Amino acid sequence: MSVIKQNVTEIREKIAESALKSGRIPSDIQLIGVTKTMDIPQIRTLLDAGVTHLGENRVQDFLPKFVELTTENPTWHFIGNLQRNKVKHVVDKVSLIHSIDSIELAREINKRAVAQNRTIDVLIEINIAKEPTKHGILAENANELSEHIFELPNTRLRGLMCIAPFVENAEKNRVFFAKMKDLSHKIFFKNRVDIINKLSYTSRPFELSMGMSCDFLVAIEEGATMVRIGTALVERRT
Ligand SMILES: *Cc1c(COP(=O)(O)O)cnc(C)c1O
Repeated sequence: MSVIKQNVTEIREKIAESALKSGRIPSDIQLIGVTKTMDIPQIRTLLDAGVTHLGENRVQDFLPKFVELTTENPTWHFIGNLQRNKVKHVVDKVSLIHSIDSIELAREINKRAVAQNRTIDVLIEINIAKEPTKHGILAENANELSEHIFELPNTRLRGLMCIAPFVENAEKNRVFFAKMKDLSHKIFFKNRVDIINKLSYTSRPFELSMGMSCDFLVAIEEGATMVRIGTALVERRT
C-alpha cells in the first residue's frame, strides 16, 4: 500500500478515537488534506483514498491544481492569506474560504459573490496565540468583524479558523483550542438564533477549523470540526 493511503487510514482511525473521546461521532470531523507540498499524482492517490476535501494556501499554486483536477472535482478549501486583488480567482472555485481577517476582504468577497449571483461560505481567521508572525485578527476583535459579515447579503459566516503555534508537545496548544471554542460560542450562540435562522444554516451550525499534523488530536478533543492536515499525510514513518 502507498505511504499516503496508509497514512490516511491511520489518521482516520486517530480522528475517530479523538472524536469519540469528545463525545462526538467521527463523521462530524471533516478531514481536509492540505496539498501544498503535493504533486498531482500524490493528490490523485489522496483522492483515491477517499480524501475529497483539499486545502491550498496560495492562489498561484491552487489555480493549476484546480485545472488539472477538473475531472476529479474535489471540494476545495482556501486556507491561506488571501489578497484582495486575488479574490476573483478563487470565489468561483472553492467551497469555503478559511482566512477572512478584515472587513475589506469580506466586502471584496461579497462583491464578487453578488456579481456571480452566489453565496460564499467563509470563516474568520483568529490569531489565537497573538503571534506577531501570523495572520488573522485578535480574538477581541472577532465579534465586531462577525457583525459586519452577518450584514453582507451573499457571504455566509460559517465559523472560525486558527493556526496554533508550531509545537512539539500538542498539549501546549490545548488552551488555544479551548479559547477558540469559547469564542465561537460567543459569536454564534449568544442572541444569534435570529441570524442562524435567517441564513438557513445547515445541520452544521458552526465550524471550528483548527488542528494540523502536530496537534489535530488535541484540537478535536477541544471541539474542532475541521482539521487541516498536510505533512502527516505524506511523511514516511518507520
Ligand atoms: C500547511 C498548512 C496546514 C497543514 O500543516 P501540516 O503541519 O503540514 O499538517 C494547515 N493549515 C494551513 C493554513 C497551512 O498553511
